[in-house]
Amino acid sequence: MSNQSIGLSDRLYEYLLANSVRELDILTKLRQETSKHPLVEMQISPEQGQLMGLLVQLIGAKKCLEVGVFTGYSSLVVALNLPDDGRLIACDISDEFTSIARKYWQAAGVSNKIDLHIAPALETLDRLLANGEAGSFDFAFIDADKNNYAAYYDRCFQLVRQGGLILVDNVLWYGRVADPTMDQDQRTQAIKQINHQIYHDDRVQISLIPIGDGLTIARKK
Ligand code: CA
Repeated sequence: MSNQSIGLSDRLYEYLLANSVRELDILTKLRQETSKHPLVEMQISPEQGQLMGLLVQLIGAKKCLEVGVFTGYSSLVVALNLPDDGRLIACDISDEFTSIARKYWQAAGVSNKIDLHIAPALETLDRLLANGEAGSFDFAFIDADKNNYAAYYDRCFQLVRQGGLILVDNVLWYGRVADPTMDQDQRTQAIKQINHQIYHDDRVQISLIPIGDGLTIARKK
C-alpha cells in the first residue's frame, strides 16, 4: 500500500460525489447549463467548489478576489459563503460567459456581493494596487489564461493580507506538467513555471491538492 495520493476510478469518484458533495440546487443548475458549453472543462468540479466554500468560511473571509470567472460557478460558491457585507471582486474579459454567471448570481441573491470587472485582469489588479488595496484581501482564486499566471500570482500576493489564501487552479494541467512530450507547449511551460516559483516561494505555506485538475493553496505568511 502506497502513501501517495490515489487516482480516482470512475466508481470511486461517483462514491466521493454521492457521499460528500452537498451541492445547492442553484449550483447544480449552473453546472448543468454549463455542461452544454463547448468550454465546459473550464468549470471547476463540485467537490472543488465545496472545498473553496469551506476555506472561505474557515478563514472568515470578507473580501475576495477571482481572476477568471467563466460562467460563475466558483464565484457563486465563494459569494454564497461570504457574510452579507462580504465582497468578491471578479475579473474576466468575456461579457458573453459572464452573462450566464450574472444570471445565477442574481437568482441566488448574491449579486450585491460581487463586483464584476470586464477587462484584462492585470489592469483590474493593478488598479486595485494603485488604489491602496494591497494587503486588504482575504482570499484570491486564480483560474484564467495560463500564460499570465506568474503575473496574477505576483499581484494577488500583494493584494492578499498576511494569513490570507491564494488558490491557483489547473496546476496539474491534465497531467501534462509531468509529461516530457509536452515540454514545448507554452501553457504547460507556464504552469510548470508557476509551480516551480510557488514551491520555492518562502513567503507562503503551501499544499498542492490533487482535486479537479490540481489546486495549489498558498497561505501568505
Ligand atoms: Ca480551471
